[in-house]
Amino acid sequence: MQRQTDAYQEIRDAVRALCAQFPDEYFRKVDEQRAYPADFVDALTKAGWMAALIPQEYGGSGLGLTEASVIMEEINRAGGNSGACHGQMYNMGTLLRHGSKAQKEEFLPKIAAGELRLQSMGVTEPTTGTDTTKIKTTAVRKGDRYVINGQKVWISRIQHSDYMILLARTTPLSEVKKKSEGMSIFLVDLREAIGHGLTVRPILNMVNHETNELFFDNLEIPAENIIGQEGQGFKYILDGLNAERTLIAAECIGDGHWFIDRVSKYVSERVVFGRPIGQNQGVQFPIAEAHIEVEAASLMRWKACELFDAHKPCGAEANMAKYLAAKASWEAANACLQFHGGFGFACEYDVERKFRETRLYQVAPISTNLILSYVAEHVLGLPRSF
Ligand SMILES: Cc1cc2nc3c(=O)[nH]c(=O)nc-3n(C[C@H](O)[C@H](O)[C@H](O)COP(=O)(O)OP(=O)(O)OC[C@H]3O[C@@H](n4cnc5c(N)ncnc54)[C@H](O)[C@@H]3O)c2cc1C
Repeated sequence: MQRQTDAYQEIRDAVRALCAQFPDEYFRKVDEQRAYPADFVDALTKAGWMAALIPQEYGGSGLGLTEASVIMEEINRAGGNSGACHGQMYNMGTLLRHGSKAQKEEFLPKIAAGELRLQSMGVTEPTTGTDTTKIKTTAVRKGDRYVINGQKVWISRIQHSDYMILLARTTPLSEVKKKSEGMSIFLVDLREAIGHGLTVRPILNMVNHETNELFFDNLEIPAENIIGQEGQGFKYILDGLNAERTLIAAECIGDGHWFIDRVSKYVSERVVFGRPIGQNQGVQFPIAEAHIEVEAASLMRWKACELFDAHKPCGAEANMAKYLAAKASWEAANACLQFHGGFGFACEYDVERKFRETRLYQVAPISTNLILSYVAEHVLGLPRSF
């Protein structure tokens, strides 16, 4: 596993150069206005970075999750927030790995060219939360259509996406042998659906993260929009979630580096009691600790990427990478805010914005408790708690 930080220097340099056109002020303003960084996402798309995982035969660059993770890491390391666009990376992967040839030929070239955006994935529901197999949204086959009814919550980037991947029950829970069976995933054309069976209600939240409640009332979608086999959707979505967790781990690693770089510079320059505050070990140690943890999390990220790219099981590694990276970036965020003193709270320093942004990853896309539970039960074989 010979992956040093500079093993992808060409990608890092190119993404950094693009991000340099969108400095702190840009993201600060977008945050203040609760706007979408459309120019930034367009620039990433035009430069081909959003199509990194799309094979060359479909117009993408055919890179792996490993390289995609470097792209996401660099965006966050530069002070941006990949949360505005990371959905396309892993959603596209679900289509690529489980979609039919016809679906791939229809959608992937358009996604690669930036003509279509597949930024949304609808899994979470208000009444079932993390207990995903209990979802109540149903898709019932009627001739050449599926009719969808139910509700989702926290579904991101709906207003900046043309399609969404939706998880719904196609066979009632009471009729399946295993609770993970009987769910299917669909491509929903949001442009057609909104106002014709799909209602969207934005949720104002702590982060500038465009996310929504969705209400499905007899939404009809073409039967051919199912991805893969009916009833197997949960399995497909898990594969996508492993990619999502690994990419978000990379974003947290980028955040962690950003916090450590910023705070290291600040504590070296800020003089209190006649010396730089960074000369005090009480200040140095939390920063050094956060750095150690970010570096360690990065190793687990490489491992998860390597397994995913080799089509090997990577649930444990993807979850552990996300756990370690989210924890490390949060500790780096805390140290950064703390040692900026009052200035950490001033928006113009960007620390409070990044602090809020990285905090999300303790809860979404999976909370740390649920990762611990996964590792306890599925890796260590401890008795199941639910
Ligand atoms: C900004 C934002 C964007 C999001 N984007 C999307 C999206 O695009 N698509 C999507 O499908 N979802 C999205 N989500 C949803 C996100 O994945 C969920 O919020 C997350 O998985 C937690 O689920 P929940 O909110 O239902 O919490 P719950 O499941 O209600 O859990 C609440 C708390 O209880 C703890 N808990 C629950 N059960 C246990 C247990 N058995 N043992 C120990 N602790 C437990 C959890 O750790 C958690 O902290 C988003 C969420 C946010 C905040």
